[in-house]
Amino acid sequence: MKLPAPVSDVLELVFPRLCVVCEGALLAEENHVCMTCLNLMPRFSAREEERKAVEKLFYARLPFEFIVAYFAFDKKARVQRLMHAIKYRENPELARWVGRLLGHQMLEEQNEWPVDWIVPVPLHPRKLRQRGYNQSAWFARGLAEVLHKPVREEAAQRVVNTRSQTGMNKTRRWENVKEAFSCPTSLEGLKILLVDDVLTTGATLEACGKALVKAGATAVSVAVMASAFGHD
Ligand SMILES: [Zn+2]
Repeated sequence: MKLPAPVSDVLELVFPRLCVVCEGALLAEENHVCMTCLNLMPRFSAREEERKAVEKLFYARLPFEFIVAYFAFDKKARVQRLMHAIKYRENPELARWVGRLLGHQMLEEQNEWPVDWIVPVPLHPRKLRQRGYNQSAWFARGLAEVLHKPVREEAAQRVVNTRSQTGMNKTRRWENVKEAFSCPTSLEGLKILLVDDVLTTGATLEACGKALVKAGATAVSVAVMASAFGHD
């Protein structure tokens, strides 16, 4: 609902918009995260070693052409707080905003990216009902708005309602998700950008990516809001 400006100004005084990371009041020109927090949150693009390690993780596992992430985890936990707000406080606009940030960063690097469809890692329908929204799908929408590529949520389905992976090691995560995804239609010859919220061990992305390859995708590149690689 769009409120008339005087009403929204009054609401702003009574209920100031807060930074989801530090909970300080946001300035009029700030959205979701204050500039101070945003500047202190590490970027994946600046982490040469972590980027190489993540690429190595997917070598020979997925036919990716590139792997991108906007944020990288750190000990200060600012990024963790942001990801927690996205996952558990039903904030689709926040997920979409991160998608736009990453999209703009990608276009600064190069004008064209080898992507036909953007496909979010799906939630199982039961989990979707519980949580109310798929944060990865909203992240995909933000990315799509900037990159001008279509989002195809229906391209991948979660056919097994997997258990939460928190605390599981890599082997157990893989056992938990390896049969969880399927693709109902052919993706013959398509280059897919598979998107998820956080990359931890890569097990979910690999399992979903393999289902896309099985359906005919020729490339499965990866975009995530944040890399937590090495932080599990
Ligand atoms: Zn802040």
